[in-house]
Amino acid sequence: MFYNKDVSSVMDKFHATPTGLTERQAAENRRTFGENRLQEKKKKSMLQVFLEQFKDLLVIILIIAAAISMATGNTESAAVILAVLVLNAILGTIQYIKAEKSLESLKSLSAPIAKVIRDGENLEINAAELVCGDVIRLEAGDIVPGDGRVLESHSLKLNESSLTGESEPVEKNAGILSEDSVALGDQINMVFSGSLVTYGRGLAVITGVGQSTEMGKIADLMNQTAERKTPLQITMDNFSKKLSIAIIAVCALVFVLSLYRGMPFADSLLFAVALAVAAIPEALSSIITISLAIGTSRMADQNAIIKQLSAVEGLGCVSVICSDKTGTLTQNKMTVEKVVCDDNDLDALLQASALCNDAVIADGETKGDPTETALADYYTAVREDYTSIKKSLPRLSELPFDSDRKLMTTLHCIDGSYIAYTKGALDVILSRTKDLTDDEKEKIRQTNFDLSNQGLRVLAFARKTLPAEKELTFDDENDLEYLGLIAEMDPPREESAQAVADCMSAGIKAVMITGDHKITASAIAKRIGIMKEDDLAVTGTELDAMDDTELEKKLPHISVYARVSPDNKIRIVNAWQARGSIVAMTGDGVNDAPALKQADVGVAMGITGTEVAKDAASMILTDDNFATIIKSVLNGRNIYANIKNAIKFLLSGNAAGILTVLYASLMALPAPFTAVQLLFINLITDSLPALAISMEPLNTALMHDKPRPRGESVLTKATLRQVTYQGLLIGAATIAAFYMGLQTDALTASTMAFGTLCLARLWHGFNSRGDQSIFRLGLLTNIYVIGAFVLGAVLLSVILLVPLFASAFGIAALTRTQIGWICILALLPTIVIQLVKIIRIK
Ligand code: ATP
Repeated sequence: MFYNKDVSSVMDKFHATPTGLTERQAAENRRTFGENRLQEKKKKSMLQVFLEQFKDLLVIILIIAAAISMATGNTESAAVILAVLVLNAILGTIQYIKAEKSLESLKSLSAPIAKVIRDGENLEINAAELVCGDVIRLEAGDIVPGDGRVLESHSLKLNESSLTGESEPVEKNAGILSEDSVALGDQINMVFSGSLVTYGRGLAVITGVGQSTEMGKIADLMNQTAERKTPLQITMDNFSKKLSIAIIAVCALVFVLSLYRGMPFADSLLFAVALAVAAIPEALSSIITISLAIGTSRMADQNAIIKQLSAVEGLGCVSVICSDKTGTLTQNKMTVEKVVCDDNDLDALLQASALCNDAVIADGETKGDPTETALADYYTAVREDYTSIKKSLPRLSELPFDSDRKLMTTLHCIDGSYIAYTKGALDVILSRTKDLTDDEKEKIRQTNFDLSNQGLRVLAFARKTLPAEKELTFDDENDLEYLGLIAEMDPPREESAQAVADCMSAGIKAVMITGDHKITASAIAKRIGIMKEDDLAVTGTELDAMDDTELEKKLPHISVYARVSPDNKIRIVNAWQARGSIVAMTGDGVNDAPALKQADVGVAMGITGTEVAKDAASMILTDDNFATIIKSVLNGRNIYANIKNAIKFLLSGNAAGILTVLYASLMALPAPFTAVQLLFINLITDSLPALAISMEPLNTALMHDKPRPRGESVLTKATLRQVTYQGLLIGAATIAAFYMGLQTDALTASTMAFGTLCLARLWHGFNSRGDQSIFRLGLLTNIYVIGAFVLGAVLLSVILLVPLFASAFGIAALTRTQIGWICILALLPTIVIQLVKIIRIK
């Protein structure tokens, strides 16, 4: 390691002070270099979005048909068609912009951060706000937020594979720079944007940000979220295409039949196209996007940030949750409970606990890794001030902690001797000690067992005297002199036990995967209900010894994996996936990234997680809490259920409309609706209630269902059966109204059919809120459906009752009895559907 103590000359080169930029300088730089170098993808303007609403082939045909009907003298209906199309486009634009906005805010929530030193203060800022001259801190697990020159390196190692393709970590040192090396753009001491800090820590001064970095030319960190379509969106797009073709075929048949029966060409065309517009559920794709957008912003309010929309669907099917222990199931608030050592070693043990420690106490607050802050507080309580001893015995060299080695070592000069203190997992330290007899080791292991059995985290301490000051190497972590144990308590989170119980009732298996000791992990797992009587706990080493067949057999019974390596995590995910399970896996470390990517839903910790883990995950928990995953599963199930319900609503209502028209065509009856009426049906009784249904609030009953199987189609046989019987019911009511009207004349018949279909579909919005009856769901729990019903009913009444609209919409003046029949017939399907629900779901 080059410890570059004289950084000021380098700093001068980059116009930075040793404590970094001031906020004012940074603001000035932002102006100079231009804000937001990590450029956002070009956003569409509102006008562009509005115009795109007219791109649909059917809309274009409709405009042509309207133009023809205007040319043939039917100006009124042409005007209404255009008005309806504009209204439709406005609605589509509002929906698009709303969805876009909430997805944008999601993106900014999961934007990468940079740790900078400004005004001598350690700050965490959005990586997009980084400017040249900023001094950044780099720690294991960080993604380098800009190009920079290394000022200070403590065994800093970077994975630059995103840039070079080479995955072997590269060591970065802070060499003293000559004028020449800067002029030549010497890259030896450079760090590059987008590379991963895999080990150590350091400081660097930023020389390039955003698009001007090496990586900026290739990748754009800001735009990795929420871009691709989800599997559900793709399936539904394909389904819509097929359905559209089928509907267009039916409409073509209706067109030919109308011509055959002597309807003018322009009117027949207009009618057929309007029927297609009304019957094709074009709202489907926007309903899915909006449901996902609303659902994900609700999840963000509940501490779960979705980075990939497909994760929402995955969450709905999750059948196994593999969770870290520390901080996720437990509070990550450690306190020292017990110190075990020989009396002679107590001073050295406590000294080691303070010196081999990265925690910092400033303004009375202890900051750092909770395992270490507990040690720092304990040292201050039982000995002298923690900060003083750190000052008086400074660190000369260090090997930072990493969860693969499970060790940390620091070197100090104490009374003229060079002492290396090591702390870490007991099993690792014991395997590296000298001088201990087998009996002594056994005794220590027994003590460790007893402490771990109480759910305590046990840290072992050791030392080694080195002949002279030197750079520490991993070899210095061998032949250690054992000092003793310190046991810490990290209580389970209060909500963990309930969350685990919820998990079980939802048919989801919860599994604990931890770097901690098997006995500690099992004790905590039993306390919160993850581990049951006959369940197994295995260590990473035991797992390595199992072949795939043995693992497959034991897998359902293993609830705790302890002392795991990142490779173990991937194997566990793979094994569950091979059984057809959908796996959510949590992770926080730099090495967790592959497992997070492999899992169906990779969940990173927002507080303790590294940038690398957050980047690899599809969801980030801002409170690091296991219970939040369960809430997200409920949200995932709810979003899926709402989408499915909206789809069922659209399909059944449209089926009713098309059945009525087809029936009338085949029976050689007059056309039951005018083109303008069909467009009204499409606009008011189609999209509005469907949107409202997609906003149905959380239904906790969904947590008693089993997880949805992977790849299950939205349109299961049961769904199609429901759509058919509900479509038939509404269609039958409409046809009945039509026949009633026919007793007067064709215009009255069409008016009655139109009124009944509209009102029946508005009522049907209530049926489509869920599988349970409206009374179970709560009459007033979804105000949007009530709003859509009231708005639709008012507009329908205006059209039916205000003479101004009568001719444009082809409306006959109705008698009170006829209006009464419309009301009764429209309500009948809903009464039948609700009765069926009440009888079926007791
Ligand atoms: P989880 O995977 O549930 O978050 P964890 O936090 O217990 O587990 P690690 O942080 O990988 O997992 O810790 C593994 C082991 O390393 C601990 O059981 C402990 O013995 C040791 N350890 C943890 N933190 C430190 C540290 N700062 N210094 C030295 N050893 C540590």
